[in-house]
Amino acid sequence: MPITPEQQAEIEAARGAPQPTLRAVSPGMEAHLYRAHEVLDHGFIRVIDYMGDDAAIVQAARVSYGAGTKHVSNDEGLIRYLMRHWHSTPFEMCEIKLHVKLPVFVARQWIRHRTANVNEYSARYSILDREFYIPHPSQLAAQSTVNNQGRGAVLEGEEAARVLEILKSDAGRAYDNYEAMLSQEGPDGAPQQGLARELARMNLPMNIYTQWYWKVDLHNLFHFLRLRADAHAQYEIRVYADEICKVVADWVPLAFAAFEDYRMGGVNLSGKAMACLRRMLKGETVTQESSGMSKGEWREFMAAVG
Ligand SMILES: Cc1cc2nc3c(=O)[nH]c(=O)nc-3n(C[C@H](O)[C@H](O)[C@H](O)COP(=O)(O)OP(=O)(O)OC[C@H]3O[C@@H](n4cnc5c(N)ncnc54)[C@H](O)[C@@H]3O)c2cc1C
Repeated sequence: MPITPEQQAEIEAARGAPQPTLRAVSPGMEAHLYRAHEVLDHGFIRVIDYMGDDAAIVQAARVSYGAGTKHVSNDEGLIRYLMRHWHSTPFEMCEIKLHVKLPVFVARQWIRHRTANVNEYSARYSILDREFYIPHPSQLAAQSTVNNQGRGAVLEGEEAARVLEILKSDAGRAYDNYEAMLSQEGPDGAPQQGLARELARMNLPMNIYTQWYWKVDLHNLFHFLRLRADAHAQYEIRVYADEICKVVADWVPLAFAAFEDYRMGGVNLSGKAMACLRRMLKGETVTQESSGMSKGEWREFMAAVG
């Protein structure tokens, strides 16, 4: 279950008691506040709090540029200028705090982004729920033959059914054993001490769900989204990043549009790649052999310039 009835009631209560404020408010973000956006089979993201809006970025930038910003005619132009020139600190003036429910193996990738504040559900203190990520059949794919870090064709027929069954039964058995070890009642009904929660959890598989609060500023969130909403990211973390992108687009539409244009839609070209591009624009036929680039670089370059 992505969201419990108790959590839903809390969300309704919080949304039902708006308070007047003098703080900057983003109307797009107000519509998201507290609401859960479902991801995968049991996961979600929801906005717990936020600070700032597009105007906060512009306001901070004008402190550094002052009268110098006059040549930039409007807020959109200034935000695009900041993004284009990697002037990142004004984006750090906006913050977001998310409640995320996600499988542990996704959390392991997510936590590598060190520039956020995290507080995770304690499986030393609490008992984890019987909730495991079981991929949709369309996501059960074979190892990619061209990308060591990716998947290829979707599994079919009996193999797909067998894999799904293994995933489900292993998870169920591990959880049954988790409960049996925690229990103060033995298999024969006799009292037993029950293993500590901090130890009983260690046989649980990585597809069990965890939850955390994750707070990050907009600059570092963009960095996270650039890497994790990218086609190279694993599907299971990418769907979270995609959902966050939709929220950010509503929160800071100008900044998100600049991010989409310069970071998601743009590419970094090396010095060698730029030299090739100039030769090609002059009409020269350039090949990988005459480019000075490795096969991998050339492949990526050709993919970028079409
Ligand atoms: C497609 C993909 C595949 C990956 N594969 C692997 C893998 O196989 N194995 C693996 O271990 N990881 C892997 N990673 C994780 C990756 O190496 C990074 O750890 C992760 O993306 C976080 O990036 P980051 O360090 O830039 O982010 P953050 O931790 O948010 O840091 C943001 C920026 O702050 C700066 N910074 C933060 N902390 C420090 C510090 N202590 N010292 C110096 N600068 C710092 C850096 O400039 C950094 O770019 C993969 C990531 C992706 C997207």
